Amino acid sequence: MANNSVFEQVRLRYEPDNIYIQTIASILEAAERLKLPHRLQLILSQPKNELIVHLPVRMDDGEWRIFKGYRVQHNNVLGPYKGGIRYHPEVNLDHVKALAAVMTMKCALVGLPFGGAKGGVTVDPRKLSTDEVMRLTRRFTSAMGTNIGPEYDIPAPDMGTTAQMMAWIADTYINLHDPHKRLTGEGVVTGKPLEFGGSHGREKATGQGLCYVLEEMLPGMGFDLTDLTFSLIGYGNVGSWTGRLMCQRGATLKAVMDHTGGVVNERGLDADALAKHVDATGGVRGFKGGDVIGETEFYQLPVDVFIPAALEQMIDENKAKLLKCKVLAEAANAPTTPAGERVLLDRGIAVLPATLCNAGGVTVSYFEWKQNRQAETWDLEVVDAQLKKIMVSAARRVLETARKLEVDMRLAAHCTALEHLGNVYNLRGIFP
Ligand code: NAD
Repeated sequence: MANNSVFEQVRLRYEPDNIYIQTIASILEAAERLKLPHRLQLILSQPKNELIVHLPVRMDDGEWRIFKGYRVQHNNVLGPYKGGIRYHPEVNLDHVKALAAVMTMKCALVGLPFGGAKGGVTVDPRKLSTDEVMRLTRRFTSAMGTNIGPEYDIPAPDMGTTAQMMAWIADTYINLHDPHKRLTGEGVVTGKPLEFGGSHGREKATGQGLCYVLEEMLPGMGFDLTDLTFSLIGYGNVGSWTGRLMCQRGATLKAVMDHTGGVVNERGLDADALAKHVDATGGVRGFKGGDVIGETEFYQLPVDVFIPAALEQMIDENKAKLLKCKVLAEAANAPTTPAGERVLLDRGIAVLPATLCNAGGVTVSYFEWKQNRQAETWDLEVVDAQLKKIMVSAARRVLETARKLEVDMRLAAHCTALEHLGNVYNLRGIFP
C-alpha cells in the first residue's frame, strides 16, 4: 500500500479500482523502497499540468458535435514531455493521468531525454469518416496550442490513432506556428508516415522492442524465443507486430483475441495472414486459418508466454486465476491490475512490466525526433541496432535491480527508473 502521508497531502483517496491511484501507489512503493525524499514522492504523485479542451467539430451531415480532449503532462525533469494520443470512447482524465505517469517511468527507465505525458479524445474513431477524424484532429491540435511543441511536449500515436493522424497534427502545428521553423516544426509529433518525417522501424518498434526484451530475459527463465508458444490479446499495431516478429523467430502463436472475437490454432496461426485479415476486416473474427475460441477458453489455453496488447486492466483477479502461462509480458500499458498481479505472482507466473516491455515505441519515437532535428534519415538497420542496444541494456538493469533488491520485475523496473529520476532531481534541485 502506498505512502499514506503523500496521498493525504495531495488529497488523493485510495481507491483500489482507480487506475491512476494504482499507478501512483506502485511508483510510491518503489520510491519508499529506495527511500527517495518525501518531496520527490510528492512531485511524482501528481502531474505537472492537466489540460482539458472541448472541441466543436462539424460532421459530414452538417450537424455539430462537441468532443472532450485531454493532455496531461506528468513530469519533465529529464526533457520535453513525451507520450501518445489515444482516441477511444473510454478515455477519461484519470486514465490519461495514469498513462502519463507510466510514460515518465518508461522514459527514465530506458534513459531517454524525455519526460512523461499522455493525451486523448473521448471518441470512437471507427464511427467517424476520414474527413471527420481529420477535422477533429486539426481542431484538437489547435486547442493544444503552445502546450505542445518539438522542444516542449511531443505527442505520438496510441490506441485508435495512426501515422496519418500524426501527419495532420504536424501539418496543423506547422501552419499555426513560426514560418521560419517549418523543418523543426515537424518534430512536434512522432509516429509520422515515412514520407513526411517518419522513421524507418517506427511502426513495428513496440513489437520489435518487446522481442529484444524477451530474447534477453527468457533464457534465464528457461525459455527461448525460437521455441515457445504464446497467445495475444489485441492484434492492432503492437499485437500484430509482436505476433509477426515472434513467429519469424520460430515461436508458435496459438491464439489471438480482440474486440471482434477469438481465434485458435494449436499448430500455430499464420501471423502474416492474420495481420492481412485484420487490415481488411477490422478484426480477427472470420479468420479462416484457425477455429473460433470463446473468452474463457482463450484465457485457459496453456501457453509459455501470454501477451496482453490491447486495453488496460484486462487481467484482473478472475482472469489471472484462469491463465495457464509461465510468463506474462505486458505489451499494453497497465493491462494487469494489482490484484491480478498478486494472483499471478502467487501462482509462480512471472510478470514482465509494460514500462520495460513496450518501451520500444517511445525509443524509436526518440530516434524519429532526433532525425527531424538533424534533417536525417536513418536506415532500418541503424534504427534496429540502436533500439536493440537500448532495450537489452534496460532489460539487464531491471534484472540486476530485481536480484539486488530481491523484488519482482515491476518494482525492479520502477526502482531502476526512480534511481535515475532521483539523481537528476538531486543534481538540478527544485526551482526556485
Ligand atoms: P491499436 O488501436 O492499434 O490496437 C488495439 C487492439 O486492441 C485492437 O486489436 C483491438 O481489437 C484490441 N481491443 C480493443 N478493445 C478490446 C477488447 N475489449 N478486448 C480485446 N481486444 C480489444 O492500439 P496499439 O497501438 O496496438 O496499442 C495497444 C496497447 O499498447 C495500448 O495499451 C497502448 O497504450 C500500448 N502501447 C502502444 C504503443 C504504440 O507504439 N502503438 C507503444 C507503447 C504502448
